Amino acid sequence: MRRLTPAEIEAYDLVSPQIARRVQVQRTPLLTPGCSGLTIGRLVLIRNSHYTSSSHDPHLQERATAAEGNVSARQALLAHELVHVEQYARIGVRRFLWRYLREYFGNLLRLRSHKQAYRAISFEVEARTATAAWSTRQQSNSDH
Ligand SMILES: [Zn+2]
Repeated sequence: MRRLTPAEIEAYDLVSPQIARRVQVQRTPLLTPGCSGLTIGRLVLIRNSHYTSSSHDPHLQERATAAEGNVSARQALLAHELVHVEQYARIGVRRFLWRYLREYFGNLLRLRSHKQAYRAISFEVEARTATAAWSTRQQSNSDH
């Protein structure tokens, strides 16, 4: 279990320093299949094997975005999970989980696909959008 370094807190400016300071990152060998990161409250679990990657990774979008810039897949994943930490802090753990699951199962009934249902959850859309914008900013920062 580790906290973010001051340099990381500054770099991951897609969330406020107050949020980034509270985060605890834990590497874990096991997570839900197809899942490379999982956030509960301020605890971020990152799967060890994320670096070797799997074909059915839900964070492929961020990875593709990251590949274009100078942000690594690992950094993009952490950035994505930090947005979830911010979301939990914003509405509370119980409400986050309740809304997240309600949206997921609603989407699943509508879309009939786990992957599409997952991707359409509003919290995931927000996390993807914020991470993509952050990755782009990192890229343009390095251009100057
Ligand atoms: Zn996510």
